Amino acid sequence: MSKQPKRHPDTLELRTLAQYTPLPEHNKQYPFEYIERNNCIKLLENDDEVHVGICDGKRTDILEELIRFHRKKVVFFRIEKSELSAYLSHTLSILESEKGPASSKDSERLLLDKLANDAPIINLVNSIFIDSIRADATDIHIEAFTDNVVVRYRIDGELRTIRTIDEENFPAISSRIKIMGNLNIMERRLPQDGRISVNLGDEVIDIRVSIVPTARGESIAIRLFNKNTALFTLDDLGFPSDAMGIMRTITTSPHGLFLVTGPTGCGKTTTLNAVLRELKDDTVKIITIEDPIEYVIDGINQIQTNDKIGLTFDMLLRRVLRQDPNIIMVGEIRDVSTAELAIRSALTGHLVLSTLHTNDAVSVIPRLRNMGIDSYLVAGVLRGAMAQRLVRRLCTYCKAPGKPTQNEQAVLARYGMNPVTLFKGRGCKECGNTGYKGRCAIMEIFPCAEQLQSLIARDADTKTIRKALKAGGIRTLAEDGLRKAQEGITTIDEVLKAVSL
Ligand SMILES: [Zn+2]
Repeated sequence: MSKQPKRHPDTLELRTLAQYTPLPEHNKQYPFEYIERNNCIKLLENDDEVHVGICDGKRTDILEELIRFHRKKVVFFRIEKSELSAYLSHTLSILESEKGPASSKDSERLLLDKLANDAPIINLVNSIFIDSIRADATDIHIEAFTDNVVVRYRIDGELRTIRTIDEENFPAISSRIKIMGNLNIMERRLPQDGRISVNLGDEVIDIRVSIVPTARGESIAIRLFNKNTALFTLDDLGFPSDAMGIMRTITTSPHGLFLVTGPTGCGKTTTLNAVLRELKDDTVKIITIEDPIEYVIDGINQIQTNDKIGLTFDMLLRRVLRQDPNIIMVGEIRDVSTAELAIRSALTGHLVLSTLHTNDAVSVIPRLRNMGIDSYLVAGVLRGAMAQRLVRRLCTYCKAPGKPTQNEQAVLARYGMNPVTLFKGRGCKECGNTGYKGRCAIMEIFPCAEQLQSLIARDADTKTIRKALKAGGIRTLAEDGLRKAQEGITTIDEVLKAVSL
């Protein structure tokens, strides 16, 4: 049996705060936030003992913490929650009135802290996060408008209103998110951003928070780095087997340059991540230079650029070459100096993967030339290029065949297609009544074969190169998209939104 039976919490004697002389706020008393959070307050302290009032005597964690902290005799008493709340709001108002404008900031901070640590607000914000993960959202937007606060999720690239919240709760929600994001809760006039991991019960997620002041309050945008997205394979992305074959031939070259192109948000990073995970092997050293590192891949050396301290793409690339890598991934070729270094690395025995902003795959050739790279060098290093876009996938729970509309027939006819049926999503619970669930890539990819190399080296114009690729059987972005619409993976509407035909 235990030597000294623990005193049952229910036997704590009830006291009232009026029985004690209030201890001054500073140094003698616990910090305001601590009292507020744990519902306990110091009643008295002398050389021998401390008296503590606590609302919930069953909180043995707090009792033990305080015993450890004081290292002297601690006597606990039970106090009423209503009495403590009254005391706290009184203290707050005294702080506000007595100390005047000089310390109004302190009381404002206390008030914001108090609001942000309110249990209903914590639960509300947590549920916004948890629901967003369940819905496979990539971003959460919380905005203050005239009468209410609107919470929207970006799912499969489109914003969806999830709920509206009473406008008076906005300061508390905003403060809560600032605390989670390690931002300054007092700052409401300047934009702030931060990146952190948050703990939501048993889940840990990486988020990037951006807060910008607006006329009505603030606009809060949160990017969620979902680990499931990080595990996408080329198969998941919708690579047809022929494109997969070309991609594998290109990316298993011992050296050379492979470029993925497309606008921001077209999934270039996800594709390159999937390629890197395929190439990962204990016989090769892989280094990436990224801005930002979105997904951490085990077994790969990932480096984050930081322009403020001079860690630019080109500077890092120069250093990385001395690391004896086999494969280098450069997040983006933005300038001439990075382009030159990437080409030089590719010429000196490295496989270099990178991205460029061009509309289609073949445009990487004029783009590199415009950056001052000689045609013979482009011909010498380029192993291939790919362009991609993301389109929404039809919901597999509610898609159903139907007749193509006249418009759809006209579009398809231009590409020599004439399907009898096309699929549409009717909308169901699984897809939030949108008819779509998840996304896939549509793409065009070409390997740089010998004939193409000689055309590039001879300074052939884009039109000629495009013609040669067409003769070689390249499937364009539009053709790949329409084929996926015909197969019932996506719709013509989605393809038309992604590429101009
Ligand atoms: Zn559905």
